[in-house]
Amino acid sequence: DTTIAAYDPELAAHIQAECRRQEEHIELIASENFTSPAVMEAQGSQLTNKYAEGYPGKRFYGGCEFVDKVEQLAIDRIKQLFGAEYANVQPHSGSQANQAVYFSVLKPGDTVMGMNLAHGGHLTHGSPANISGKMYNIVPYGLNDKEEIDYDEMERIAIETKPKLIIGGASAYALRFDFERMGQIARKVGAYFMVDMAHYAGLIAAGVYPNPVPHADFVTSTTHKTLRGPRGGLVLAKAEHEKMINSSVFPTLQGGPLEHVIAAKAVAFKEALQPEFKVYQQQVLKNADVMARTLIERGLRIVSGRTESHLFLVDLRPKSLTGKAADAALGLAHITVNKNSIPNDPESPFVTSGIRIGSPAITTRGFKEEEARMVANLVADVLDNPADEANLTTVREKVLALTSRFPVYGKKA
Ligand code: PLP
Repeated sequence: DTTIAAYDPELAAHIQAECRRQEEHIELIASENFTSPAVMEAQGSQLTNKYAEGYPGKRFYGGCEFVDKVEQLAIDRIKQLFGAEYANVQPHSGSQANQAVYFSVLKPGDTVMGMNLAHGGHLTHGSPANISGKMYNIVPYGLNDKEEIDYDEMERIAIETKPKLIIGGASAYALRFDFERMGQIARKVGAYFMVDMAHYAGLIAAGVYPNPVPHADFVTSTTHKTLRGPRGGLVLAKAEHEKMINSSVFPTLQGGPLEHVIAAKAVAFKEALQPEFKVYQQQVLKNADVMARTLIERGLRIVSGRTESHLFLVDLRPKSLTGKAADAALGLAHITVNKNSIPNDPESPFVTSGIRIGSPAITTRGFKEEEARMVANLVADVLDNPADEANLTTVREKVLALTSRFPVYGKKA
């Protein structure tokens, strides 16, 4: 018996416990999702054994005739999905996809404009803790008084500071980006324009969120958030940038590509091309909207006042709670979220005044508006009385009743 359970019961028990957690808890982390069994089958295949440095048709290793076909399928499908001229599906992660673009067009010390992390941007868009913030001179843009991106101010700063690269995209911004306007600003100041669509990729693929591809020189993404594929990254670009990005990904930043993960990406991209995927993403938007509205009814404040995507930030100050405390209490009730700074947060990033809530995972398991409303009410029930054990027990029981009606992978996961 070569199963993990027989060979390594200690490890098997931990995996089993995680599978059970995924089935029995309500997953509201906006960057997470549940991949299909076919995606996991590809990722668990013998392709993990293959070295394939290089690109299809131009490898440094023999025996690549079949993985060449696999990688080409992934490339062709992702180009079709987003209407892109060029795609590189080898980045091991979203961070490495972003680095590939930075390395292609920037030199250390160059000025880069990215969304302020404290207003919803991502670490890799210029946080001092990330290589992007250590290597480049970062000028941030952010939100106005209505907690919407201030494009006029962005333009003013861009004219003043002349960045070499402007980055669109975020990790905690609930509204639509105006990629067209950002592209105009970039062209006006002679900057490259990159969009990191990691969070919105699935919505964009389904046509329910603006597509940055026509407006941007480079579009990067993860494949595991709304796009619902395996963990990984990708870069799309105008055809003229092919050589530059290819050589940045390999050999500058990475070695051998993960062909088993690329195969899993190919499966996910095929799934994203189906009509059902559009229906799924429409439901993702409806579920996020219902949860935001329900939480407002229950006395919480939503940053930007609404959502136009799969996620939103909850301002917990009306309940005199911190993000850290809310995250912990919700966790005890088997509802998983992450604490998140809100714009102009008076608390530190380790404490925060907010939580981020997303609908992709609950929607994959089949929740519709009715269940999304129940989920938001359960969240509010916890936040109303986070230290009351009996309250947490009651919510936990309701969570179990709800999740057992919507198995993710079925009982044997
Ligand atoms: N870009 C954005 C906008 C993200 O939200 C994230 C992940 O949270 C990343 C990049 C990084 O992706 P990874 O964790 O695969 O490096």
